[in-house]
Amino acid sequence: MCRHLGWLGADVTVSSLVLDPPCGLRVQSYAPRRQKHGLMNADGWGVGFFDREVPRRWRSPAPLWGDVSFDSIAPALRSHCVVAAVRSATVGMPIEASATAPFTDGRWLLSHNGVVDRAVLPPTSSAESSCDSAILAATIFERGLDALGDTVAEIGAADPLARLNILAADGSRLLATAWGDTLFILRRDDGVVLASEPYDDAPGWDDVPDRHLVEVTPAGVTITPLSHPHSKGSR
Ligand code: GLN
Repeated sequence: MCRHLGWLGADVTVSSLVLDPPCGLRVQSYAPRRQKHGLMNADGWGVGFFDREVPRRWRSPAPLWGDVSFDSIAPALRSHCVVAAVRSATVGMPIEASATAPFTDGRWLLSHNGVVDRAVLPPTSSAESSCDSAILAATIFERGLDALGDTVAEIGAADPLARLNILAADGSRLLATAWGDTLFILRRDDGVVLASEPYDDAPGWDDVPDRHLVEVTPAGVTITPLSHPHSKGSR
């Protein structure tokens, strides 16, 4: 189970979100605290951010903790909207930069925290990789992000063992689902963080209940329940 983080708010450095916090994604790459599936996230990392409205990405199939180049550059990268992830590859999935979130359609950045049976996903020619998350991202892009909640509920019904925590951003909106794994929200004075797990022990982190959709815009945060089509299992 990977770990991801999204930011919408003031311009901040990427390092302040990903590298500097005491339990941020860099630490979560080797010592996550809330991870239920997998021990660590050593199979790659990706950082996406909006440069005005243009999504830009830096991805690697190597562990985040050892990337000295990113460590040097991240303090110089500033954005108002960020999607970042560290990866624990599902057994059988390729370990390559193109299988690493965030994925993009040129407008959105999207991360998937979880697993899905590729057989329940419609065929697509636009996936970047044969990884389940890349195919799922292509499916979500094709259906449109306004349908994210419906798409997740539908795929969750088709594969009751799927875990479908999605995090997506288009530069002015953050969308996330909690479906099978943890999701937290932190409302800061300068913006909102959505993350698989808190990056520190400061007060203010709220747990998003399972099977809910979160939408963050400059106007505020809404959290709505998704449908519960089937009972859950565990994979
Ligand atoms: N299934 C995805 C992959 O293999 C995501 C894995 C995860 O969330 N750990 O990359």
